[in-house]
Amino acid sequence: MTAYDPNNIFAKILRGELPAHRVYEDERALAFLDIMPRAPGHTLVIPKNPARNLLDIDQGDLGYVAGIAQRIARAQMAAFAADGITVQQFNESAGGQVVFHLHVHVIPRHEGVALRPPATYKASQDELAASAEKIRAALEHVPQKWEPLLR
Ligand code: 5GP
Repeated sequence: MTAYDPNNIFAKILRGELPAHRVYEDERALAFLDIMPRAPGHTLVIPKNPARNLLDIDQGDLGYVAGIAQRIARAQMAAFAADGITVQQFNESAGGQVVFHLHVHVIPRHEGVALRPPATYKASQDELAASAEKIRAALEHVPQKWEPLLR
Protein backbone atom coordinates (compact mmCIF):
# COMPACT_ATOMS: atom_id res chain seq x y z
CA MET A 1 0.00 0.00 0.00
CA THR A 2 1.26 3.50 -0.89
CA ALA A 3 2.26 5.80 2.00
CA TYR A 4 0.00 8.63 3.17
CA ASP A 5 0.30 11.66 0.88
CA PRO A 6 0.10 14.89 2.93
CA ASN A 7 -0.86 16.82 -0.21
CA ASN A 8 -4.17 15.04 -0.78
CA ILE A 9 -7.23 17.34 -1.08
CA PHE A 10 -8.63 16.53 2.36
CA ALA A 11 -5.28 17.17 4.06
CA LYS A 12 -5.35 20.60 2.40
CA ILE A 13 -8.90 21.18 3.68
CA LEU A 14 -7.75 20.16 7.18
CA ARG A 15 -4.88 22.68 7.01
CA GLY A 16 -7.26 25.39 5.77
CA GLU A 17 -5.48 25.60 2.41
CA LEU A 18 -8.70 24.75 0.55
CA PRO A 19 -12.22 25.86 1.51
CA ALA A 20 -14.99 23.50 2.59
CA HIS A 21 -18.51 23.80 3.97
CA ARG A 22 -17.72 22.58 7.48
CA VAL A 23 -20.58 21.18 9.53
CA TYR A 24 -18.69 19.86 12.58
CA GLU A 25 -15.15 20.07 13.93
CA ASP A 26 -13.34 19.07 17.09
CA GLU A 27 -9.76 18.16 18.00
CA ARG A 28 -9.94 14.72 16.37
CA ALA A 29 -12.37 14.92 13.46
CA LEU A 30 -13.86 17.18 10.80
CA ALA A 31 -17.14 16.82 8.89
CA PHE A 32 -17.80 18.81 5.73
CA LEU A 33 -20.06 18.61 2.70
CA ASP A 34 -19.12 16.63 -0.39
CA ILE A 35 -18.88 19.03 -3.36
CA MET A 36 -20.52 16.43 -5.60
CA PRO A 37 -23.39 15.28 -3.37
CA ARG A 38 -25.11 12.05 -4.29
CA ALA A 39 -28.11 13.43 -2.36
CA PRO A 40 -28.67 16.79 -0.62
CA GLY A 41 -26.68 16.96 2.63
CA HIS A 42 -24.07 14.34 1.61
CA THR A 43 -21.36 14.76 4.25
CA LEU A 44 -17.81 13.43 4.64
CA VAL A 45 -16.33 12.68 8.07
CA ILE A 46 -12.55 12.50 8.37
CA PRO A 47 -10.00 12.00 11.16
CA LYS A 48 -7.55 14.82 11.78
CA ASN A 49 -4.67 12.38 12.16
CA PRO A 50 -3.24 11.26 8.83
CA ALA A 51 -4.72 7.97 7.62
CA ARG A 52 -4.90 6.76 4.04
CA ASN A 53 -7.92 4.52 4.59
CA LEU A 54 -9.37 1.67 6.65
CA LEU A 55 -6.21 -0.36 6.15
CA ASP A 56 -3.90 1.94 8.11
CA ILE A 57 -6.10 4.08 10.40
CA ASP A 58 -5.52 3.89 14.14
CA GLN A 59 -8.38 1.88 15.72
CA GLY A 60 -9.16 4.64 18.19
CA ASP A 61 -9.44 7.21 15.39
CA LEU A 62 -11.65 4.82 13.42
CA GLY A 63 -14.02 4.43 16.34
CA TYR A 64 -14.03 8.17 16.93
CA VAL A 65 -14.86 8.93 13.29
CA ALA A 66 -17.65 6.33 13.42
CA GLY A 67 -19.11 8.10 16.45
CA ILE A 68 -19.08 11.45 14.64
CA ALA A 69 -20.64 9.84 11.56
CA GLN A 70 -23.43 8.61 13.84
CA ARG A 71 -24.01 12.15 15.13
CA ILE A 72 -24.04 13.54 11.58
CA ALA A 73 -26.54 10.83 10.55
CA ARG A 74 -28.86 11.73 13.38
CA ALA A 75 -28.64 15.44 12.53
CA GLN A 76 -29.32 14.70 8.85
CA MET A 77 -32.45 12.69 9.71
CA ALA A 78 -33.89 15.85 11.28
CA ALA A 79 -32.37 18.43 8.93
CA PHE A 80 -33.61 16.79 5.73
CA ALA A 81 -36.64 14.93 7.11
CA ALA A 82 -34.81 11.84 5.84
CA ASP A 83 -36.24 8.32 5.85
CA GLY A 84 -32.83 6.69 6.15
CA ILE A 85 -29.07 7.11 5.88
CA THR A 86 -26.50 5.46 3.63
CA VAL A 87 -22.91 5.18 4.93
CA GLN A 88 -20.12 4.39 2.48
CA GLN A 89 -16.37 4.12 2.90
CA PHE A 90 -14.01 3.14 0.06
CA ASN A 91 -10.46 1.76 0.27
CA GLU A 92 -7.78 1.93 -2.44
CA SER A 93 -8.55 2.49 -6.11
CA ALA A 94 -9.81 -1.05 -6.55
CA GLY A 95 -12.23 -0.38 -3.70
CA GLY A 96 -13.51 2.85 -5.28
CA GLN A 97 -11.36 5.31 -3.30
CA VAL A 98 -10.45 8.53 -5.11
CA VAL A 99 -9.16 10.78 -2.30
CA PHE A 100 -6.55 9.14 -0.11
CA HIS A 101 -7.37 10.46 3.36
CA LEU A 102 -9.86 8.19 5.11
CA HIS A 103 -13.40 9.51 4.83
CA VAL A 104 -16.83 8.20 5.69
CA HIS A 105 -19.69 9.26 3.40
CA VAL A 106 -22.92 9.94 5.33
CA ILE A 107 -25.83 10.44 2.95
CA PRO A 108 -29.47 11.27 3.80
CA ARG A 109 -31.97 9.10 1.90
CA HIS A 110 -35.63 9.35 1.03
CA GLU A 111 -37.94 6.47 0.26
CA GLY A 112 -37.94 5.71 -3.46
CA VAL A 113 -35.22 8.27 -4.34
CA ALA A 114 -32.09 6.75 -5.89
CA LEU A 115 -28.62 8.11 -5.20
CA ARG A 116 -27.17 10.18 -8.03
CA PRO A 117 -24.34 8.28 -9.71
CA PRO A 118 -20.92 9.26 -8.29
CA ALA A 119 -19.35 12.50 -9.59
CA THR A 120 -22.28 13.47 -11.82
CA TYR A 121 -23.56 16.58 -10.05
CA LYS A 122 -21.57 19.53 -8.69
CA ALA A 123 -23.58 21.50 -6.14
CA SER A 124 -23.59 25.31 -6.15
CA GLN A 125 -21.95 27.15 -3.26
CA ASP A 126 -25.40 28.41 -2.26
CA GLU A 127 -26.84 24.88 -2.11
CA LEU A 128 -23.88 23.65 -0.05
CA ALA A 129 -24.06 26.63 2.31
CA ALA A 130 -27.79 26.04 2.88
CA SER A 131 -27.29 22.29 3.51
CA ALA A 132 -24.40 22.96 5.89
CA GLU A 133 -26.46 25.44 7.87
CA LYS A 134 -29.31 22.94 8.23
CA ILE A 135 -26.96 20.22 9.52
CA ARG A 136 -25.16 22.56 11.93
CA ALA A 137 -28.52 23.70 13.34
CA ALA A 138 -29.76 20.11 13.73
CA LEU A 139 -26.49 19.05 15.41
CA GLU A 140 -27.29 21.43 18.26
CA HIS A 141 -30.03 18.97 19.23
CA VAL A 142 -27.97 15.79 18.92
CA PRO A 143 -26.51 14.86 22.31
CA GLN A 144 -22.72 14.70 22.63
CA LYS A 145 -23.04 11.33 24.34
CA TRP A 146 -24.77 8.45 22.62
CA GLU A 147 -28.28 7.63 23.72
CA PRO A 148 -30.60 5.04 22.17
CA LEU A 149 -32.64 6.62 19.37
CA LEU A 150 -35.38 4.03 19.72
CA ARG A 151 -36.69 2.81 23.05
P1 5GP B 1 -14.07 8.45 -2.61
O1 5GP B 1 -12.58 8.64 -2.42
O2 5GP B 1 -14.75 7.99 -1.37
O3 5GP B 1 -14.41 7.60 -3.78
O4 5GP B 1 -14.71 9.83 -2.98
C1 5GP B 1 -14.15 11.08 -2.73
C2 5GP B 1 -15.27 12.06 -2.52
O5 5GP B 1 -14.70 13.33 -2.32
C3 5GP B 1 -16.22 12.19 -3.73
O6 5GP B 1 -17.54 11.96 -3.28
C4 5GP B 1 -16.01 13.62 -4.22
O7 5GP B 1 -17.19 14.21 -4.66
C5 5GP B 1 -15.46 14.31 -2.99
N1 5GP B 1 -14.55 15.41 -3.28
C6 5GP B 1 -13.56 15.41 -4.21
N2 5GP B 1 -12.88 16.58 -4.18
C7 5GP B 1 -13.46 17.32 -3.20
C8 5GP B 1 -13.19 18.63 -2.70
O8 5GP B 1 -12.29 19.35 -3.13
N3 5GP B 1 -13.99 19.07 -1.69
C9 5GP B 1 -15.01 18.32 -1.18
N4 5GP B 1 -15.72 18.85 -0.20
N5 5GP B 1 -15.28 17.07 -1.63
C10 5GP B 1 -14.52 16.59 -2.63
